Amino acid sequence: MKELNPLLRSLLFIIGGDIAIEIGIELLNSEDQDITDEDITENILARIKSEGRDVDFEPDDTEKLKLNTVRKTLYKLYGEKLAQFRRIRDKSTGWFIYYWWHEFDLLEEILLEKKKLVEEKLRERLEFEQNNYFFICNECVNNNIKYNFEDAFEMNFRCPDCGGALIAQENDDLINFLKEKIARLEKFDLTVDSVKK
Ligand SMILES: [Zn+2]
Repeated sequence: MKELNPLLRSLLFIIGGDIAIEIGIELLNSEDQDITDEDITENILARIKSEGRDVDFEPDDTEKLKLNTVRKTLYKLYGEKLAQFRRIRDKSTGWFIYYWWHEFDLLEEILLEKKKLVEEKLRERLEFEQNNYFFICNECVNNNIKYNFEDAFEMNFRCPDCGGALIAQENDDLINFLKEKIARLEKFDLTVDSVKK
């Protein structure tokens, strides 16, 4: 039985919880064959039983694992580019049969893309915080309205609600926090030594 590498396992869990990990294991171990969502469901149930694990994926239902839950999770994996499918119409029933396979080779690419996106957002926020500092009124209870310099200047640094003084809000802590996060993210190694076989 092939095992999921830890990074992939974590990502699957984040995407779809425990069931996504089980589905990942099935997809990884059925690389050379056509596998349907029904097969995956049956395989998971059989494997869990053989391993002597008492897992219930459907706490609100008498069934331990529904085909629908597996389908929904497969679509989540598809949405994250970790799985693909093709469908074929069953000539006798007229229903579509879905065959699934994994795209785990794209893991590194997917993670790098996500990392880039997070980094971009952090950088944008940092730039914003560095270019804007805000003024707030300490007199107003629960007042979290922030004014930028221009607005505060126009209002003579007076709160429009109570007339109290508007004071500059320190955002050094936030700026340092953002810088630290970006630095940590840059150092984070996402190289995947291919899926363990
Ligand atoms: Zn005020």
